[in-house]
Amino acid sequence: AAEWEKFTANTPASADHNRQASKSLPLGVTSSFQHWEPHPISIVKARGAWLTDVDGRRLLDLSMGFGAMLVGHLNPTVVAYVEEALQSVGTLFVTPSPTATEVAERYQTRFGLDMLRFTQSGTESLMYAVRAARAYTQRKAIIKIEGGYHGGYDALQVSVKPALADIGPAEAPIPDVPFDVEAGTVYVVPYNNMDRLNEILSEHGREIAAIVMEPVIENLAIVVPDEGYLAAVRAACNEHGVLLIFDEVKTGLTAGYAGASQRLGVKPDLITLAKSIGGGLPLAAFGGTSDVMQVVVDGRMAHFGTYNGNPLVMAAARAVDEVCTREALEVAETINVTTLDHIDEIIREYQLPAHTVALGVKGCITWSTTPVRNYRDYKATDFGVAELSWLWGVNRGILTPPGLDEQWLVSLAHTQEEMDVLVSDFRDLAQALR
Ligand code: PLP
Repeated sequence: AAEWEKFTANTPASADHNRQASKSLPLGVTSSFQHWEPHPISIVKARGAWLTDVDGRRLLDLSMGFGAMLVGHLNPTVVAYVEEALQSVGTLFVTPSPTATEVAERYQTRFGLDMLRFTQSGTESLMYAVRAARAYTQRKAIIKIEGGYHGGYDALQVSVKPALADIGPAEAPIPDVPFDVEAGTVYVVPYNNMDRLNEILSEHGREIAAIVMEPVIENLAIVVPDEGYLAAVRAACNEHGVLLIFDEVKTGLTAGYAGASQRLGVKPDLITLAKSIGGGLPLAAFGGTSDVMQVVVDGRMAHFGTYNGNPLVMAAARAVDEVCTREALEVAETINVTTLDHIDEIIREYQLPAHTVALGVKGCITWSTTPVRNYRDYKATDFGVAELSWLWGVNRGILTPPGLDEQWLVSLAHTQEEMDVLVSDFRDLAQALR
């Protein structure tokens, strides 16, 4: 309660802004993820690793646009390339353009994709990836992971964050919206569980087009695959003629130079990318093997989009691709690993019921002493302390993502000194919890 009082005292202008904004925007925000009670913090500008809010406070940004701002806010290369496009190229042609082809070729090389198409958002990419899988296999049903979030497309807004009381011991598919949407048939399986997946595939394999999953789940803090799990999923898909779609919207470049699939050595049939590839501009993509992408070539599936591959976004994409070298990402990852080591030391020193999890430049503290392997384990973690830990940071000028399902991101703009602020803040919290 004292921390919430402090929050309210720190953020009067954000409260006013939310009251005003709520008259035009439902909840006063333009995406429901931007909202939290009693009100979110409204931001006026961002540079590098820092935000300024409407109350004039500077906040160290560790949310970084849910990971989209991997290169840092207003990265100079992104700004230069986008400005150049604005000055001398244009904003939209709806025709082919060399800039879009150049970025596509860069992604072929980096991500090992035969072919790809651009979209504006992760949601759109997932929708088209599922459509491509359905067109390719001529099957309709899909499998998704319990607790997995893949954007707002109806077929995937199933069992995203179901209440444990609703799902019972079996993984009943629970629509995430309280009315009957056209989700089609969706089977839900727990992450890190081959038995259940094999059961569903044996019973229903012939009607299933694809399994859609994040290779590493980054919507339940961070949940990593058991040794051999992803390879076993890959083999099971092959056996049943089911396509494997890796949703790398969140992992993507934040997981390493070529994403989580290459880092973990398992190749999907289709991959979706968004967030980190766009440098803050609305860019997403889906792509994969030429065999599957052939469905777009021969018209088994149509893919459209007025803004796809527009010059401003392509300019940003080219800048991000140039800036995200192996070396630059390694520097950020080393900062992340050092930060995690320090936090682990504090967890040990104060014997906190917590542990850290990391992938690439992202990290999180999970409030449980046992590893989290799936959604149900995640739901059993201590959300009370997790919320206090988040609020504690916000009240002291560190903005990690709201909603406890996220993780921090060490962008190319963050320094070790800045991450040390997170560490010392965590030490203060550990002392307060004692
Ligand atoms: N897939 C994953 C794994 C995500 O985390 C998100 C967004 O957070 C999406 C898809 C949807 O992306 P977008 O918000 O760009 O539509």
